Amino acid sequence: MSYLKTTFLFLLLATNCFSQDTSLSEINRLTQKAAKYLLKDKSLSTYYSISANGISIYETPENKISNKPEFHVALHQLDDFKMYLENSGSKELMEMYKTGNFQNHIQKVIVAEGNSGPINEKKLQGKKIAIDPGHIAGNMEMGDIEKKCLTFKCTGPDGVVDSIVIAEGMLTLATAQLLKEKLEKEGAEVFMTRTFSNGSAFGVTLDDWLKTDYTKTVDSLCKVGKISLSQKQFFSGTKPTKRDKFRVIFKDVELAKRAEIINNYKPDLTVVIHYNVDETNTGWVKPANKNFNMTFVGGAFMKNDLSTPEKRFEFLRMLVTDDVENSIALSSAVVKSFEKNLNVKTATVKDAEYLSEGCLTAAPGVYCRNLQLTRYIHGPLVYGETLYQDNVNECILLNKETDKTKNPRVQQVAEAYFQGIMSYVLASGPNGN
Ligand SMILES: [Zn+2]
Repeated sequence: MSYLKTTFLFLLLATNCFSQDTSLSEINRLTQKAAKYLLKDKSLSTYYSISANGISIYETPENKISNKPEFHVALHQLDDFKMYLENSGSKELMEMYKTGNFQNHIQKVIVAEGNSGPINEKKLQGKKIAIDPGHIAGNMEMGDIEKKCLTFKCTGPDGVVDSIVIAEGMLTLATAQLLKEKLEKEGAEVFMTRTFSNGSAFGVTLDDWLKTDYTKTVDSLCKVGKISLSQKQFFSGTKPTKRDKFRVIFKDVELAKRAEIINNYKPDLTVVIHYNVDETNTGWVKPANKNFNMTFVGGAFMKNDLSTPEKRFEFLRMLVTDDVENSIALSSAVVKSFEKNLNVKTATVKDAEYLSEGCLTAAPGVYCRNLQLTRYIHGPLVYGETLYQDNVNECILLNKETDKTKNPRVQQVAEAYFQGIMSYVLASGPNGN
């Protein structure tokens, strides 16, 4: 977005310039989009309405029946609303949402002008890209706290027994560092949510965070009702283990921090990097045979997923903006590149239970899934899940090298992300999203 000059224009809007045909086709388009990408649980349609009057969001299904919307935007204001959503900060957006309508904001619309400067040689010049290396662990102690590590013995094709010692956070950070270098070579500006081994999105390790921020976080989570008073008492005492503190207090606030710093950076696109495992190989104490690639984008809201104003606002944002469509295009390009570069198949919906139970299929290997990060990160995103780390061949490849940036398989994964991103950016044109 840095290549765009943003200016505030106070617009005098001609109302009712919307023809009946346009409104009908827009109502149909939005209704179909919600059904196709956003609603895993179809009963959630009781929380919103799309009609000639516009889009309304309701706090409860009862409020829909009595026509008391929590938020309303008229159909003829949708283009301005979309522009406002794409150019405003998360905090400002939530404040606007809580006013109940877009009426008072319509005169202050940010208009983005295309870059009229010279065309640059480098293909990603002027692009801002955020990378989120999943998890934290740079060693097995932290990997065990996160329960995102593998330790088992595996016999390789040469008959040699390998001791597998992998924490997912080591692989994601190395992949992110390699990808960052490649993107910067093409002129992109790159932001990473965490930058060092065991480092979190708070810029410190879990141990340091526990010393400085833990107590006040427990207090504020209790104040906003996210933990109960008895939980507050338990977590303020000496009984909880480091794993308890990580799981109940740290994990969600750290994920929220990742989304917050990404949204503040206002990237043109975001890459969330994860490595997968076979979910049926529980405990991950032995190798398994499955190996797939897949990607996630926002959508597929399920029961209780519209329970707070924040969640309902993100639903509305996904409905009105092109974030979901752009994320599907980006993720499609990346997952194709995974299959080509890594020689591992793209997962179909029957290859994992969570794909059929918790997702909607958007394109081959691209699944709408309402994860904390796919929900709260604004703009186009790809949430990549490459390679099953517990696969009998993959674990031996990923186990090589202590410095994972030197691991050939990790280098292939970074190259696969890079090629996928390049093909998406080139397909969306010089000033495309
Ligand atoms: Zn992961």
